[in-house]
Parts: sequence; C-alpha cells; structure tokens
Amino acid sequence: MIKKEKGFIMDQQDKKIREQLSKIKHKIMVMSGKGGVGKSTVAVNIAIGLSLQDFMVGLLDVDLHGPSIPKMLGARDLRLSRRPDGKMGAIKYSPNLKFLSIEPLLPSEDTAVIWRGPIKHSAIRQFIGDIYWGELDYLVIDAPPGTGDEPLTVAKTIPDAYALLVTTPQEVSLIDVKKSIRFCQKIKMRILGIVENMSGFICPHCGKPIDLFKKGGGQKLADELGLRFLGRIPIDPRVVDTGDAGKPVIAAYPESVTAKAFEELVRNIVAATEEMRRDVLEERFMRIAIPVATPPTKIETDPAKFDLFAIYDVENNKILVKDVVKKPENQDLLDFLKEQVATHIILFDPPRELADYLSGNEIRVLVTDTSQESPDSLVEEYLKEKEAATA
Ligand code: ADP
Repeated sequence: MIKKEKGFIMDQQDKKIREQLSKIKHKIMVMSGKGGVGKSTVAVNIAIGLSLQDFMVGLLDVDLHGPSIPKMLGARDLRLSRRPDGKMGAIKYSPNLKFLSIEPLLPSEDTAVIWRGPIKHSAIRQFIGDIYWGELDYLVIDAPPGTGDEPLTVAKTIPDAYALLVTTPQEVSLIDVKKSIRFCQKIKMRILGIVENMSGFICPHCGKPIDLFKKGGGQKLADELGLRFLGRIPIDPRVVDTGDAGKPVIAAYPESVTAKAFEELVRNIVAATEEMRRDVLEERFMRIAIPVATPPTKIETDPAKFDLFAIYDVENNKILVKDVVKKPENQDLLDFLKEQVATHIILFDPPRELADYLSGNEIRVLVTDTSQESPDSLVEEYLKEKEAATA
C-alpha cells in the first residue's frame, strides 16, 4: 500500500480536510488588500445570491479578529448543529446556505480575541477539517484582509480556492489589490476576477445612481492585468442599514439597483467558475509537476527520493510560470500535489500502484520514456505533442 510507505504518511487532519474539500465544487476566497473596502459585505451578498439561485452554499468567516458575518446575516443566535454521527455541522441559515464564523464560539461579542499565530492556523484548519459541511456547490470564504499569515493559512488549507479580489475606486485600494495579485501569484492561487465596490453612489431619496466619485479603476486594472472584471457595486446607504439589520441588501431590497448589481456579480461569478473548471477539464489550464533531482536539471526516477518538484503553470499550451518546490518531509505525495493544485505529473517508469493511486485521485500521470532530458524540455515536448494531436 503506497499510502503507508515512508514519505507517503498522511496527517489525519490533512486527510479530513481533503475529504471535506473534495465534496465542494468551487471554493472562492474573497480577499482585499486592506480592511473596510466591503469584503465581508460582498462575501455575504454573493453567498446569499448563489443560494437564491438554488446552489448549495457554505459561507466561512475566517476573519478571526473582526467576524462580522453572523451580524450581517442576523444570525447571531444560531448555533452549530450536532449531527447524528456526533460531529458538529456548520450553522444552517436556510435550506441551502450554511455558515460558520468564530463569533458563536466566543463567550461574548466583545471578547477581544488575541490569537497567536499557531492557534489561528489550527482554528482555521479545524473550521474546515472538523466541522461538517457536506456537499456544496460553492464555499465562499471571507478571508482576513491583507497578505499576511491568515490569508496564507487559508490559501494553504484550501489550495484550489479561487481568489476574488475586492477593491474600491480609490488609488490606494488599487495599489493594495496589486499587492494581493502578487500574493496570489506567489502562492499560485488562480484569480477569479476583480469586483469594484463603492463605485458610484445611489441617491438615498430617489434610489437612482449618481456618479459622484471616479469609478472604473477596477475595470482598468483588470484589463491591464488580463483578469476578469466581475462587477461593480455602488455605494448605497441601504447596504449599511441592511448589514446592521441582519438582512443583506440582495435579499432585503431585491428590486434595488444595488441588489441587481449583486445579482449580475453572482451571474458573472457562476460563469467564471464554470469557465475555470472547463479550462482544467479541457487542459487549457494545467499545472504540471515533475519530481526532480538536485540540482533540478533532471527528472528524479526513484519514488523514495521524490522530495523536490519543478512545477509549471501552463495556459493555452504556453508555460507561464515555473517554480521549484520542496515537498515537506513526511508529507503524503498526493497531499503535496493537491496542495500545489497540480493537475498533471510527469514520471519516468513509475511503479504501477503509484500511477494508479495518483490517477485515481484526479492527477493525470504522464509517463516519459527518457530520464535524460531536462524537466523544461519534457514539458515542452508534451505541449508540442498535445498541439500536434489537436491540430
Ligand atoms: P471589510 O470586510 O472589507 O472590512 P465590510 O464589508 O465590513 O468591509 O464593510 C465596511 C463598511 O462599509 C460596513 O459598514 C458596510 O456596511 C459598508 N459598505 C460596504 N459596502 C458598501 C456599499 N456598497 N455601500 C455602502 N456601504 C457599504
């Protein structure tokens, strides 16, 4: 059994996390470079918007310092459910929307939470590993702002999440978004797109949009960076009122301009997630891993020495990024590949059980008949063959 061999031991928590995540079709991490740009507001409204379209949705608040989701949902009295098997389940908000936040687990709402790094890290992992979520179409994650340890832990725990970047038209906020984009590139998180919040103004008297401030920076930034622009949400005093009253604007005023803007955002998100999934299925996007020797100029052929990997991001048959990553000692190979969100692995003469184990877990195994070429040329050759086959 490969899983029990040295180097393939899997941490129990990792296993639970992976099992839960495998039942969730799309994970969206709502991020912003700094606080106050409306990240939680966007997360709550898109979670409700998706649930109103009959998707099964989970909303996870991992903003440990300022959990605001229960208040925005008007669901502070709701508690975790205990399931027949004794496990705790995420809190049920409606038949197809569940949520989880640190807030109901705290003694009182004003408790100042002082979390040390390791505690934060394990709390976030428990939120996903120990709490039952069940089958979901979408898990929307309200990530802590910035590009520090917490978003990093979330990203590492849910490596196949897509990042949804929230910005406002102000220049500073756009600079912060650029930082988030660099963060996503560094941790290899695919970006779903950009949302511009507080863009334009809805008159509190007549409910009509007024272009008071400059807007459109999010669209420009998205165009510049080749990212999707997913939508624009105006400043609307009702967003604040409804957030405070516990009924998000998309549900409280479904006919309003702002609710319509959120609905369009939700439609664009659904289309974008489907497109990103198709990109992987149809191999327009691939992340190819190759075990390499030290120095990483040749493929490593001995599975007992698979500890260094060259990883290539390929889009439309072109290599975009290459990285060399060390697999932590004792980490299960599959777990490592999943953490890297690898879609393919190139191996030389792999043991049959290993190849079956990986392909049975949705990692496509490509077998090379030479161990002498450089990893770069192995990838290039594969891409050439693929192109020739589809031409
Ligand atoms: P973050 O999660 O980025 O810290 P929040 O979602 O908590 O931001 O929003 C910060 C404040 O701004 C809240 O009071 C919220 O009601 C308000 N807000 C967010 N988006 C809008 C909007 N489009 N129009 C008006 N107020 C908004």
